[in-house]
Amino acid sequence: MKYTATFALLILAIGIQTQRRSTICRCRQEDACWPTTAEWSSLNQSIDGKLRHLRPVGLPCQQSAYHKEKCDEVLAMTHNSSWRVDHPESLQLVSWESWPEKNQSCQIVREAVDGCAQGRIPLYSAAVESTKQVQQAVSFAKHRNLRLVVRNTGHDMAGRSSAPGSLQILTSGLKGINYTENFVPFITQGSAEPMGPAVTIGAGILTGELYATGSEKGFVVLGGACSTVGIAGGFIQSGGMGILSPSKGLGSDHVLQVEIVTADGSHIIANQYQNEDLFWAVRGGGGGTFGVITSVTLRAFADLPATVTGIQINTPSADAIFWAGVKTVLSILPELTDAGNSARMIVLPASSTGGASASFEGYTFNKKGAVSLLALQRALDDFGIPFKLSHDFQGNLSRFLAAPKGVDLAGISVIPGSVFLSYDLVASKDGPAKVTSALSDLRLGPGSSFSVDAFGGGQVVNNKNRINSAVHPDWRSALLSLTVGRGVPPGYTLETLKSIESELENDQLPRLRSLEGGRKGAYLAVAYPNEVYFQDSFWGKNYDRLLKVKRAWDPEDLFITRVGVGSERWDDEGMCTRADSGLWHALARF
Ligand SMILES: Cc1cc2nc3c(=O)[nH]c(=O)nc-3n(C[C@H](O)[C@H](O)[C@H](O)COP(=O)(O)OP(=O)(O)OC[C@H]3O[C@@H](n4cnc5c(N)ncnc54)[C@H](O)[C@@H]3O)c2cc1C
Repeated sequence: MKYTATFALLILAIGIQTQRRSTICRCRQEDACWPTTAEWSSLNQSIDGKLRHLRPVGLPCQQSAYHKEKCDEVLAMTHNSSWRVDHPESLQLVSWESWPEKNQSCQIVREAVDGCAQGRIPLYSAAVESTKQVQQAVSFAKHRNLRLVVRNTGHDMAGRSSAPGSLQILTSGLKGINYTENFVPFITQGSAEPMGPAVTIGAGILTGELYATGSEKGFVVLGGACSTVGIAGGFIQSGGMGILSPSKGLGSDHVLQVEIVTADGSHIIANQYQNEDLFWAVRGGGGGTFGVITSVTLRAFADLPATVTGIQINTPSADAIFWAGVKTVLSILPELTDAGNSARMIVLPASSTGGASASFEGYTFNKKGAVSLLALQRALDDFGIPFKLSHDFQGNLSRFLAAPKGVDLAGISVIPGSVFLSYDLVASKDGPAKVTSALSDLRLGPGSSFSVDAFGGGQVVNNKNRINSAVHPDWRSALLSLTVGRGVPPGYTLETLKSIESELENDQLPRLRSLEGGRKGAYLAVAYPNEVYFQDSFWGKNYDRLLKVKRAWDPEDLFITRVGVGSERWDDEGMCTRADSGLWHALARF
């Protein structure tokens, strides 16, 4: 009773205070404060001619602006992830290029007649190639009060690397890979301990590029599965999970040093010895939030052999046999990851070509892993579950990881929703059956899938007391990141989108969360992009500290992203502060 009264008074007090606060907006193109042509030109000069005006990637295909060769290229390359990396006017998930609330989109179809609007594509792009150029672009955005976004490859699944009416800092041109046998962190006073083999990369280095260099030099890093994702940007700032996670930990667990340009234009080096708060925050606190990372130093491991075992289950429909197969796979994941091995399974209960499919890939590095996968095959046989088996022995894991895979598909529209499933749940006697039952109850239709990423457990959990970083504490008890990918049909309407989002948010995610007693923890890189309680869902108890670090380094929120730290006081696109931002934030924390 006493608690309720105190709570009500607190809310009232904050509400009154909020009413007094006026809304602040970024400078928009239609505003008098928008930079003049001469001012844009001076920015262009200060970054050595690297400024570009962006128009949507589908523009050459519109009837009014039709250009056959350019349109042919767009149509041919639209699903090519590398091509999208190289086109700053595009994103990997096309749904984030549109702005359905304003009915703004630019369709990629030949001679489209509906017109082509800018949507969420930034208006200008500063394609930086040096730290000095990053500083110039940051200062320009700060002093002109512009909406600023940071984009590397455009893979973000919650639209964090774009925003309407914004200036984009494009980091993909910040290249460079330097391997060292014994990395010593930079320190201004005293001496730092050498940390062993490491590699320092520019912010624009793609995962595949780094693996390829590793395969030449004999090292491997903790990166993800998609060769066109950037490592230094969203991956490490999201936390970073990969094939090696159960044996080594998360990608962010192996960040040794970060160079970053902060909101006041300073170039900072953060590591365990200096700027420790920033160093803590950029390891899991979310991309585009604390500054522009220009380079990162990652621990390098000796390259190693691996066996990739494929198990393909196809049935005419998602019947009892199919789900028994899924359950059998889930059952072996605890022992597989205990021994430092990992796996991923993509489940399509209703594939567009008909039937149901579960595609499992196991990544094993030791005998125990091989034994677990043999046991899995025997169990599938015993239950009469038909499957196709493949084995691929890789002498060098880094060479295998460098090659593009099916997961590199781009130019599609997907709305993800995700949960962590704990080791304790999946390893419990009836855990796999409960999870399978929840998955089958979701009744996913064609174009939608589950991704079961067994990249937790093992060393991810063991690092609980060894690594102090901003990742959600639930990572340290998780075995799986389970993601539902809801496909969005081409040419969708706002109504279709809202209906898919509503199903995911109000029915499917709550069902999955009920497996863990309603806990909301999720891997922020693949989580539901409109998560209302994103603070709790993406960071748990780390959120309050993250907000303090954010306020200390970026008090005016120059770096703001959708569902990012500090974004509760801004509208969805980070253009104006919410009139009720103080109240909203206070409520969100309860
Ligand atoms: C097909 C696909 C496969 C994936 N596979 C994996 C996987 O195996 N493991 C995994 O952990 N994740 C995976 N992800 C998620 C991926 O790690 C995140 O989407 C990540 O944020 C992408 O980072 P990016 O820099 O490449 O993308 P971007 O969209 O360019 O950026 C992502 C975020 O980071 C910010 N950012 C980018 N560069 C910088 C910088 N230099 N400084 C500051 N902020 C920056 C952006 O503002 C944005 O907020 C996958 C995603 C997709 C779409």
